[in-house]
Amino acid sequence: MAEVLSNMARHNHEEVIFVQNKDANLRAIIGIHSTVLGPALGGLRVWNYECEEDAIDDALRLAEGMTYKAAAAGLKVGGGKAVIIADPRRDKTPEMFRAMGRAIEKLNGRYITAEDVGTSVEDMKYLRETTKYVAGMDMNDGGSGDPSPTTANGVFESIQACVEEVWGRDSLDGLKVALQGVGHVGYLLCRKLKNAGAALVVSDLYPPNVEKARTDFGVEAVAPNEIYEQEVDVFAPCALGAVINDKTIPRLRCRIVAGSANNQLKDVEKHGRALDEKGILYAPDFVANAGGLINIYYRDIQGMPCDEEAWSPTGIYENMKKVFETSKCDNIPTFEAANRLAMSRIAKGCGNEVAAE
Ligand code: NAD
Repeated sequence: MAEVLSNMARHNHEEVIFVQNKDANLRAIIGIHSTVLGPALGGLRVWNYECEEDAIDDALRLAEGMTYKAAAAGLKVGGGKAVIIADPRRDKTPEMFRAMGRAIEKLNGRYITAEDVGTSVEDMKYLRETTKYVAGMDMNDGGSGDPSPTTANGVFESIQACVEEVWGRDSLDGLKVALQGVGHVGYLLCRKLKNAGAALVVSDLYPPNVEKARTDFGVEAVAPNEIYEQEVDVFAPCALGAVINDKTIPRLRCRIVAGSANNQLKDVEKHGRALDEKGILYAPDFVANAGGLINIYYRDIQGMPCDEEAWSPTGIYENMKKVFETSKCDNIPTFEAANRLAMSRIAKGCGNEVAAE
């Protein structure tokens, strides 16, 4: 518990809320990291955490990441995130989400939720019964729908920016990508990469997802622990965070790390630097995976019309190029360049609405 408290102090959130509702089998944490640029916007994760400390740590790290993500993308929203401690394949019930909605409603709009790992547009419907502060609702219910397609578009643009930076080419044809996690985003990214001529090797903890990717795209599959040492051009983490760490970095045999997962670097400073020293170009995650947030921001918050099309292009290619420029000009690793971009926009107190330009 001492470690949890010191984490809370270090992340410096505006507010952290613990939610428990025995009847609804709900245990949750809501982290509001910053509302400097606007209401804290960030998804609701349902995950079977090993212990409450892990859940708190995840909520705090994810909420902070959302602040930087929104700022770096030039959006006038702050950063927040919520997690529910439960098995997403076994424990979810409508009443659990209704109870969570009541807790979110009490915050009067300081936190706006949406989908994340373990939640879907279906779950958003139940939340909406008890709170109006839900984005990413089904398009048939007037929402912007699943953010994953736009997230996948943005990650694809990030990979394009990285490939151009490393090899000076604008095509992905013939490149090989190792993709970890073929869930909502990973599956769609597979399709885009395949259409662009890339070869794929994938892993997932959930065998049916691997089978679907194999059947639909003819990808190669490896066991979850084998994905790190694949000899590839790009490693795309699209599962959970902290996968770039002391144990995995020595095993990586790629030139680029670019994926959708939040908080890919276990220790941002240490592992961001280690990738740089190993000559691996890292696409900072909160820049690469902002597509879903951009979609929600413009469609749900700013009221732009929602249609079937995923947002594309997202503006992330240009944003990633800015990060690489700063990294080269100031001779700093890309994670640091991305932090500077976000911090400068927070300091100015405004976004620059890059995606709308
Ligand atoms: P998802 O739950 O649909 O998919 C995640 C997949 O990863 C699942 O199939 C799961 O079985 C698999 N997985 C988990 N741990 C794994 C491991 N160790 N090895 C291999 N596979 C593993 O989630 P998603 O919506 O596709 O999101 C993926 C990542 O992208 C998450 O980190 C999420 O926070 C991030 N992200 C998603 C969005 C979005 O729009 N969905 C936006 C921004 C960031």
